[in-house]
Amino acid sequence: MTLNWPFIHTRSPVIERAEGVYLYDNQGRSILDAAGGAIVSNVGHGNPRVIEAMRAAAEATSYVVPTWETPSRRALLDALETHWLPPELTRVHITSDGTAAVESAMKLALQYQQAIGQAQRTKIVGRTPSYHGTTLATASISGHPARKLGLEQALPNFPEVPAPYPLRCPLGNDHSEIGRYYVDLFVDVIEQEGSDTIAALLAEPITGSSGGAIVPPDDYWPQMEAVCKEHGILIIMDEVMTGFGRTGEKFGHQHWSVRPDIVVGGKGLAGGYAPLGGVFATETVGSTIQQAQYPVMFNTFGAHPAACAAGAEVLTIMQEENLVQRSVELGEYLHTQLHQRLDRHPHVAEIRGRGLFAGIEIVQNHESLERFPQDAEVSRKIVGHGLSEGVFFYGGGTGTVRDIVCMGPAFTITESELDKVVDTLVNSIDAATASSQ
Ligand code: PLP
Repeated sequence: MTLNWPFIHTRSPVIERAEGVYLYDNQGRSILDAAGGAIVSNVGHGNPRVIEAMRAAAEATSYVVPTWETPSRRALLDALETHWLPPELTRVHITSDGTAAVESAMKLALQYQQAIGQAQRTKIVGRTPSYHGTTLATASISGHPARKLGLEQALPNFPEVPAPYPLRCPLGNDHSEIGRYYVDLFVDVIEQEGSDTIAALLAEPITGSSGGAIVPPDDYWPQMEAVCKEHGILIIMDEVMTGFGRTGEKFGHQHWSVRPDIVVGGKGLAGGYAPLGGVFATETVGSTIQQAQYPVMFNTFGAHPAACAAGAEVLTIMQEENLVQRSVELGEYLHTQLHQRLDRHPHVAEIRGRGLFAGIEIVQNHESLERFPQDAEVSRKIVGHGLSEGVFFYGGGTGTVRDIVCMGPAFTITESELDKVVDTLVNSIDAATASSQ
């Protein structure tokens, strides 16, 4: 009997090996990975330093309970402390993926409020569009209808607020008050729900693939922080996609003056070499929960020694090779090329993002911003055409928000490889939109 895998099985490429920014399939074809997998790969594939660090960690210890120290766990903490985390984030919980890290962060926010005598603060506000994970709570708080299908009736309810989407802001996409508009919507939610019932806001600093790298107006985060502080609401920043240099800062929120209480990382933390997520909280949050003697339960495979070794080495390589700066510079190159080639394209509504994280929104009508019908599956066609020309793009959107294509290659990609990415993207958009008319 043949096993059906993936569970909902589809025909997909068979990848036999990967090196640098290329994947190689079982037909001997190379695929330029413009998306770093799922916006994960940052130091490229096959880095011998990471492989050796993982081998050494596995040789030293295959498995040790997550709360005990090992050399690789210490190395990861040292790298985080020395070069990556803002100094106010002193409490660390290490998981094995982004979902578990977001879920842990949500629980920490609730426990913190309970510990300071605010037990009635049981709500966490999420934003739409967004994506935060696969568990019932993280799927539920995600502003992502397509990933809740068949679950809608059973999911716990979280209050939701629109995330900034300047292109489609009702005020008009060049209005000076767009930031204030979205902050006011958050204030409305606080008033409707009752400010003393809300424990936290969970948000991506730059909306990830659900929106297609949507960058908020510059005045959005400072104002959101002020509102949260005023109402005793914690800020959980989901940096699973945007963290560790992806957007040209160590963390995406650092583009603005905002200090989250809890930051969540994943994906680029170990560059795809191993499953790893992290929750980073302030001393206030950590010590309050500790004094209340509430549990912060680990998953069996949280902080796995070989995964921590991968994370420590990836973070060290990024720091030694100045790869966050490379994300800035190559990001500028990529965005310049995209604008030159696509700004006047009849089906491109917007090119957006920061650093080496870019999103393109495709529309049927450039003027009215009318979308293609959902069943035209334009972004799926673009990804398919890209693959036929040997480049992998990451399709985004939420069903409602759609025809989004994302790019997030390894920071080691070259300008000429980015030229190939952009050439292929233009061809793929042309082919997909022509066949959808
Ligand atoms: N949060 C964000 C912003 C993400 O982009 C993702 C995954 O794409 C997650 C959370 C969930 O992480 P994981 O897929 O590692 O569980």
